[in-house]
Amino acid sequence: MSILVCGGAGYIGSHCVRALKEAGYDCIIYDNLSEGHREAVKDFPLIVGDLKDEEKLNRVFAEYKIEGVIHFAAFALVGISMKEPLSYYENNVSAAISLLKAMERAKVKNIVFSSTCAVYGEPDKVPITEDMPTKPCNPYGQTKRDIEKLLYWCDEAYGIKSVCLRYFNAAGAVPDGSIGEDHALETHLLPLVFHALQGKREAVSVFGTDYDTQDGSCIRDYIHVLDLADAHIRALQYLIKGSPSNIFNLGTGTGTSVLEVIDTVKRITGKDFRVKLCERRPGDPAKLVAEAGKAYEHLGWKPQYSDMETIVKDAYAWHKNHPDGFGV
Ligand code: UDP
Repeated sequence: MSILVCGGAGYIGSHCVRALKEAGYDCIIYDNLSEGHREAVKDFPLIVGDLKDEEKLNRVFAEYKIEGVIHFAAFALVGISMKEPLSYYENNVSAAISLLKAMERAKVKNIVFSSTCAVYGEPDKVPITEDMPTKPCNPYGQTKRDIEKLLYWCDEAYGIKSVCLRYFNAAGAVPDGSIGEDHALETHLLPLVFHALQGKREAVSVFGTDYDTQDGSCIRDYIHVLDLADAHIRALQYLIKGSPSNIFNLGTGTGTSVLEVIDTVKRITGKDFRVKLCERRPGDPAKLVAEAGKAYEHLGWKPQYSDMETIVKDAYAWHKNHPDGFGV
């Protein structure tokens, strides 16, 4: 039996595939390589394909005995989604429909889905619990919420069980620096901080210094990608043993501001670089911090590596070893 990992060659997907291998699972990776990297997944078969290609997907489900699906594949940039909602709906929602149709046809009943804290929009309070209202303030978050709802109805209609994992801010890398974060278009804070440190960009921008936070910059809950990978394996085991569909936050309960992230990088690396204070970025809520007790209660999951020092140290190992990402 195998686990089908859609988007398994991407940043979080490839770390999860590594953890699955260590836990003894067999994987089939399905990825269109629009964001993923062949070099990130050398241990298992990689099928290069798009999820919207229903015939190809059907062939995969027919060829392999699939016990469960982990679905990472998506466009995931808040800023771009504000400018290109149509491509976000097409890529995220249509692809999920196609995948669920193939699962239904093949009678595969378990799926772990990468959701996001962006489903909450601007929350009324932090930390955020899973039962708080969802009111996404950007198309990216809305597509993820729409897929969560679709999963709910697929359980009602076809008995497909799902765990939606609402990640807060994924960061870090495996400590040996062999795989890490490498996006064609980089918009995430930590990689951009390292690009400034490495002189690949003139400065790192701080988007907004007038938020209602202690230093005026946005607060996020950064979670180490190794902790995310561990949560996926626990979620899969939870489904395989017959537990009901569920939704869990994956965060630490601790918020870190943009300026604090930058300070930590300077302190851990001992390197200085330019910081530019800028206007707010459209679509950004001021403060996103998880209450993660539910994932602990149901999955026994607790972050082990998600203190900011460890995240920065591990991300630095990747950026130092691979200044041009997977290009070297
Ligand atoms: N951010 C920033 N400068 C950058 C990129 C991001 O100040 O060059 C801020 C952004 O406004 C947000 C936080 O850093 O408050 C995390 O943004 P990122 O894009 O990494 O993740 P998101 O929260 O959008 O998923």
